[in-house]
Amino acid sequence: MADANATSRPDGWEGPAIGRVIVDEETLQARVRELGARITDDYAGRAPLLVGVLKGACLFLSDLARAISLPVELDFMAVSSYGSATRTSGVVRIVKDLDLDLTGRHVIIVEDIVDSGLTLAYLRRNLAARHPASLAVCALLIKEGLQTVEQDLAYEGFRIPPEFVVGYGLDVAERYRNLPYIAAYLEGAAGA
Ligand code: 5GP
Repeated sequence: MADANATSRPDGWEGPAIGRVIVDEETLQARVRELGARITDDYAGRAPLLVGVLKGACLFLSDLARAISLPVELDFMAVSSYGSATRTSGVVRIVKDLDLDLTGRHVIIVEDIVDSGLTLAYLRRNLAARHPASLAVCALLIKEGLQTVEQDLAYEGFRIPPEFVVGYGLDVAERYRNLPYIAAYLEGAAGA
């Protein structure tokens, strides 16, 4: 049988805008497994509801869900923040709301990246008002030193330098979400 993990991808398929690797695939996957194991311990006997923030958190959420050995449920929200392409303004609009009622549920917000923290602060306030039994945050990436809002992150993946990154769900104009690692984005080199 063919090895399902074997990939043969041509060199340079990512394009010229991809800079140095910030978190490689192996390190990323190992950390996601650790986070899943911690959530499994912390929520033993309960069925947490993972709320993914579309679209950036979709790859992280799907790997994290498989790393949790509990009955989990999934729901998704899509938000758009007003601002330039690479900087959020903190004014958030819900583009797609949750399907499920959060009352009495143990909710874990699964976020791709915390930059200023404004998006997460908004989401937390919004979901807390729906009367969950508990509300926690699991964020894959946290940019060092940039949070203008104090965050209480129960589960953190990696602290990274304050530069724009892509991959593993994170995009620029919908590209690069399928990179299996996190890399710096070289602005101005995107001609691919
Ligand atoms: P915040 O509100 O924390 O400033 O920004 C959070 C949102 O901005 C993230 O959910 C993500 O959509 C976007 N974002 C922040 N930093 C980056 C980055 O380095 N790369 C990409 N692709 N998106 C980012």
